[in-house]
Amino acid sequence: MKIIVCIKQVPETTEVKINPETNTLIREGVASIINPFDMYAIEEAVRLKERYSAHTFVITMGPPQAEDALREALSIGIDEAIHISDKAFAGSDTWVTSLVLAKAIERVGDYDLIICGKQASDGDTAQVGPGIATHLNLPQATYVRKISSIDEKNKIMRVERLLEDGYEILELFLPALITVVKEINEPRLPSLRGKLRAKKQSIPIWMHTDLGLREEEVGLSGSPTQVVRIFTPPSRPKGEIFEGDPEECVNSLVEKLRIHIL
Ligand code: FAD
Repeated sequence: MKIIVCIKQVPETTEVKINPETNTLIREGVASIINPFDMYAIEEAVRLKERYSAHTFVITMGPPQAEDALREALSIGIDEAIHISDKAFAGSDTWVTSLVLAKAIERVGDYDLIICGKQASDGDTAQVGPGIATHLNLPQATYVRKISSIDEKNKIMRVERLLEDGYEILELFLPALITVVKEINEPRLPSLRGKLRAKKQSIPIWMHTDLGLREEEVGLSGSPTQVVRIFTPPSRPKGEIFEGDPEECVNSLVEKLRIHIL
């Protein structure tokens, strides 16, 4: 079985700053980490490797420093890493990001399962996993909280998918893509041996030409969505607080609403 995990390196903060001129993230001076949901995706792949003797890959599309995220994934127990990095990818929207990742996954080939995090803590769209499945025409299950079983012979996987008020059980034919939530497992820490192995491992860098993509198909020029403006909405004015006897409060509120409606 071949498993591919997609990870994104994100700023170690939820207070993402945006360059108002370019409408892109300001990454300078902010420490980077693996997107927290992707840590669960890595852990799940390593558990499946231990259970089904799978071969595992980790892929990221990102600038040169994203190599650190790949090495961390290797130190946790992933077998191989691929870095998709090319200036031509700058400004890619989620559609192009998922196209590039899908092309890289096709290049790895012969895969059974792709695991993504539920969403990235900076971009936050949760579109890339489903986007990859769409480009590769694969069955997908989002919000997976448990992989219950994998029937390797018949290529069927059973998962539990988190819902607001419970969960649903889905069966997917492999190859398939899942996105995972934090309920799925408890990520482990890398071992010293893992860290040493990861440090020495070579990581290939794939550019748009390696993926059979033309320059105009990727980056800002290939992206069907463009960020026109990013702004923080003005804070809402403080509402009126009614205090005292509840009945009187309700009466005054109803009266105010009546005046407002009329
Ligand atoms: P989500 O869809 O929330 O992530 C879900 C999961 O997908 C992750 O948990 C992970 O498993 C996987 N995943 C997501 N991204 C990657 C990745 N890169 N590699 C591997 N796996 C991944 N960003 C910039 O940095 N520079 C820009 O110039 C830029 N321009 C943009 C222009 C537009 C018009 C738009 C819409 C976005 C732009 N972005 C840019 C943001 C960039 O498109 C997104 O960060 C990226 O597509 C991932 O989306 P997301 O963060 O919402 O991830």
